[in-house]
Amino acid sequence: LGGSAKDIVDGRVRVAVRLRPRNAEELVADADYADCVELQPEVKRLKLRKNNWDSDTYEFDEVLTEFASQKRVYEVVAKPVVESVLDGYNGTVMAYGQTGTGKTYTLGHLGELDNSECGIMVRSMEDILANLSPETDFVSVSYIQIYMETIQDLLTPSNDNIPIMEDPKTGEVSLPGATVVEIRDQQSFLELLRLGEAHRFAANTKLNTESSRSHAILMVQVKRSVMGGEASSSEEDSHSHLVQSCDPPLVRKGKLVVVDLAGSERVQKSGSEGQALEEAKCINLSLSALGKCINALAENSPHVPVRDSKLTRLLKDSFGGTARTSLIVTIGPSPRHRGETASTILFGQRAM
Ligand code: ADP
Ligand code: MG
Repeated sequence: LGGSAKDIVDGRVRVAVRLRPRNAEELVADADYADCVELQPEVKRLKLRKNNWDSDTYEFDEVLTEFASQKRVYEVVAKPVVESVLDGYNGTVMAYGQTGTGKTYTLGHLGELDNSECGIMVRSMEDILANLSPETDFVSVSYIQIYMETIQDLLTPSNDNIPIMEDPKTGEVSLPGATVVEIRDQQSFLELLRLGEAHRFAANTKLNTESSRSHAILMVQVKRSVMGGEASSSEEDSHSHLVQSCDPPLVRKGKLVVVDLAGSERVQKSGSEGQALEEAKCINLSLSALGKCINALAENSPHVPVRDSKLTRLLKDSFGGTARTSLIVTIGPSPRHRGETASTILFGQRAM
């Protein structure tokens, strides 16, 4: 998924697939069976087993095996996006997959016990802070979840039902009322993530639901003052969000959005009722709206249909144009989940 911000011209979504290792239960229950997929990372291919002698082959921008480290996953999936955000563009990193396949591990793991285990959110902020000058630059975050098409603030739980605003001139999307916290060091960012996680758990307990039924979204705003000389490389690039202040330096604004999507598993329509059915409808709505948008990007279509869900409306200014989007689809190895794994793989394929 590499390359510099300069070569984003197509707005295409970069898609990686990541396989989680077998868990304790699968090591026992699937002991006599092969994994439902076979990965060939050197040629960026994945084979999905149909039966003992036949499989379908798919290509991805990156294929990450169960041995891929968190560091490597960050480097191939998120680092190019973070770099373009530091250059003043918007960027998105999303994880899509069935519950239990490693979305939160990939994006949100804090690595409290083992630093090498920390995920994309933590590593992104590390990279951002390392590139900012504390005197002139500024980074802030908001952390929200979308549950049943309503937006809740994970930093201030009393803020629920937050509206989405779009600046008619710049097209910039914002969440008036959502808490915005300036980040000065990595320690305070980790505390904020912990706080958000605790609030998410409390909110979901109150709503009698699970975190897998909502989308968790971290939004990181970066503002950098760039000295005249340094800015020259992108001055001719009219798409960069350069804001000329009365005097040099120039201010470069970029936004990174990290999206831990709700579990993609199909909820049995027949078996579900009440709240579970309503949740499933909302998740299907937003994931299929997301699918339509990234398909439109893949086809270079001028019309990206963002209106259909809160999720896609929120991502509007992070889609297409000069924005860089990475999608990581997470899968498990169990042959018992072959059907869900197949549908996750297809979602990823359609985005390319
Ligand atoms: P999801 O968010 O998709 O529901 P989680 O991230 O919670 O899934 O992962 C489910 C479990 O699997 C967690 O205990 C997590 O630590 C573990 N896990 C997921 N991916 C990996 C991985 N690549 N390596 C080791 N453990 C993993
Ligand atoms: Mg999760």
